[in-house]
Amino acid sequence: MYDIELADVTKVYPSGVLALDHVNLLVRAGEVFGIVGPSGCGKTTALRVIAGLEQPTSGRVHIGGTDVTELETRQRGLGLITQANLLMSNRTAARNITFPLEVAGIEMYRGGDELLDFEASTLRIHHLLERSPKTLSEGERRVVQLARAVIASPSTLLMDEPLAHLEDLVRLRLRADILRIHRARGLTTLLVTASQHDAMAMSDRIVVLFDGVIHQVGTPTDVYERPATAQVATFFGEPSMNVLPARVQAGRGERVVELLGRRVPMWSPCLDPYDGSSVLVGFRPNDVVLGGPADDSIEVEVRATEPLGHETFAETVTPDGVRISCTIPGRAPPVGTTLDLGLRPERLHLFDPSTQLAMLHPAGR
Ligand code: ADP
Ligand code: MG
Repeated sequence: MYDIELADVTKVYPSGVLALDHVNLLVRAGEVFGIVGPSGCGKTTALRVIAGLEQPTSGRVHIGGTDVTELETRQRGLGLITQANLLMSNRTAARNITFPLEVAGIEMYRGGDELLDFEASTLRIHHLLERSPKTLSEGERRVVQLARAVIASPSTLLMDEPLAHLEDLVRLRLRADILRIHRARGLTTLLVTASQHDAMAMSDRIVVLFDGVIHQVGTPTDVYERPATAQVATFFGEPSMNVLPARVQAGRGERVVELLGRRVPMWSPCLDPYDGSSVLVGFRPNDVVLGGPADDSIEVEVRATEPLGHETFAETVTPDGVRISCTIPGRAPPVGTTLDLGLRPERLHLFDPSTQLAMLHPAGR
């Protein structure tokens, strides 16, 4: 098993776009590692730099301890699924899958039948092998691409949005196929995805990128429970975390965070330097509690709802026009309904408004 390391990698495209900004990253041998972040944050660029499809402007790429920065893509021992990974329509699925063996040379091709059989068994696609790619469904084509990516025994598997635009059941199956191949072949797997659901479900660890800068590396649970910046907090987790400005006032022995005209007592020493100044307060929609009118409840009006079955996601707005999203039990209230929302002080995240860095997270549940 091979690890992958980006050492101080910067990528500036000829157009002047800074796509990766001093990125340092270590993907451990044998893990499924997700690269996530909003569109344009540099996910594809990072994958292409590792694959040798783009040259970094500065910095080095290591795979399995070897500096591969100057090596051609085919010398890097990769299985690759890029976003435009077309199958050849004049060949059967089987001859698409074994194509990398032909390219690698006749020696490898001799063992091709057994390799093809092994791959087809692992992925359960024997019934597809003699068919033309034109006759396959999109999900079936993706599995064939996956088999093709790993047939020549790569050390690492790099995939750019392999699950995009698939219907739910097909997507779940392909997730399982990728994980099965990952384990059966002892791969180090890099998964670029715009979907946090896929990242959560599949990755041992993830990196979150914004504008070519790493904001956080950790397990999906870490990132969800302890987002390192306000940007990560609003990006990762669905529906998005509410992040609102608040003011810190010194109280008697404690501090009070003034949020939406309510005074929320908080005891954290991390608030000491913020007396009289502002902080960002974050809370997840499912940490809002619905109650009757009380001193510390926040009155909001329902603007839009989305039924989730046993609960409802609601977009609401305060009389001052501040938007708050919340997940509430039961059926959707009519648009225009007034709700009294309660905040649980122990569930609040705090961020510094100038650096956006996290200061405080709720204790683990
Ligand atoms: P993502 O995959 O996260 O959506 P990309 O890595 O494709 O992001 O792009 C990162 C940034 O680099 C974007 O601003 C994008 O427009 C720019 N970019 C990507 N490829 C090129 C290219 N070949 N030439 C110039 N700019 C590019
Ligand atoms: Mg991309």
